[in-house]
Amino acid sequence: MTYKPANKIQDLRQFGEHGGVNPSITDSSTFTFMDQQKMVDTFHGELEGCFLYSRHWNPSNKCLADAIAAMEGTESAWITASGMAAITCAILQVCNSGDHIITSITTYGGTWAFLKNYLPKFNIEVTFVDISDLDSVKKSIKPNTKIIYTESVTNPLLAISDIPRLAEITRGSEIKLMVDNTFSPMMISPAQLGAHIVVYSMTKFINGKNDCVAGAICGTQNFINSLSDVNTGTAMLLGPVLDPLRASSILKNLNTLHIRMKQHSHNAKYLAGKFEQAGIKVVYPGLPSHPHHELMKEIMNEEFGFGGMIAIDCHTAEKAAEFMQSMQDSDIGYLAVSLGYFKTLFSNSGKSTSSEIPEEIQKEMGLSEGLVRFSVGLDNDISRTWIRINECLQKTGIA
Ligand code: PLP
Repeated sequence: MTYKPANKIQDLRQFGEHGGVNPSITDSSTFTFMDQQKMVDTFHGELEGCFLYSRHWNPSNKCLADAIAAMEGTESAWITASGMAAITCAILQVCNSGDHIITSITTYGGTWAFLKNYLPKFNIEVTFVDISDLDSVKKSIKPNTKIIYTESVTNPLLAISDIPRLAEITRGSEIKLMVDNTFSPMMISPAQLGAHIVVYSMTKFINGKNDCVAGAICGTQNFINSLSDVNTGTAMLLGPVLDPLRASSILKNLNTLHIRMKQHSHNAKYLAGKFEQAGIKVVYPGLPSHPHHELMKEIMNEEFGFGGMIAIDCHTAEKAAEFMQSMQDSDIGYLAVSLGYFKTLFSNSGKSTSSEIPEEIQKEMGLSEGLVRFSVGLDNDISRTWIRINECLQKTGIA
């Protein structure tokens, strides 16, 4: 891939109405109209470029949406108040009662719970598959299938989805390939590889500061318009609008995402290699031992590396807890869920972000009870960090 997502953001001209280098922050929930007819036309979607009410559109969220759409190379984007709002609004916009979804069995626990526990209330059927088994994906298609859902890099097992071949499966049908790219912004550009809808938890790498929760949906202009339709749009009617103040701070952080992704990737690759040398079972897409290493090389935007996420297996939940406690005590990072932060974060997925998934299904998907997921930080001296991690490994008898 030669796609240049960072250049696309950098080429945008977004400044404030008084010439401020940052777009002004919208401090209003509603907007004045100089005449009644313009308000009526805007309400009915017949007039573009006018803002009506902040849940519908507001200038700060529009600037961020334009930048996210530029990064993905989609016609348009929509900003939401969380990653889950992006996922649920996008899915409910595409599916009606009686429809069917095929999803990767390994996804973020909240997504898994929504698909498994919530959608049946609306008579939407969901089939869980091993997303790397393309035959099983094909065989699961039914006349009422509307979505194939996956994560580019799955949470927490870091499997890589073959987006071009999944897109190929949907070709010529009504099925939408929906991809959650939360773990791999800039590194992978799903829409360039054939995905129809791309969703993000911007809470993670895109914002990178862990100071707020936010999400985004990227797609065609028609799809984004449908989300904001005043009569039938999920984003409009369920109302998960992001506060404009937050949108404006995320936009500023987005402009350093390319530098951060390179450093996260550099540090994670270093640590993954060290874990492997120490004889620890480690999953990292940048290691030749990763089953999807070649696929990753084929689909990635090379300059951003293989990402900041690593999973290691400590075998038991008790050992994982002991090791994480020791790392926190040694100032390596924080025992915390979430990812994409400037400090390293680690958590035991089975007991935290995947705990919605019953234990027998965790086993079926290959999630060990001792799996520790790392979001590797922006450490300036990663060799020093490794020395500290290695001490914790020795202390807890893991290596
Ligand atoms: N998608 C992935 C891959 C995630 O890891 C998460 C949260 O951990 C979400 C979506 C949900 O995002 P949010 O917490 O912003 O609602």
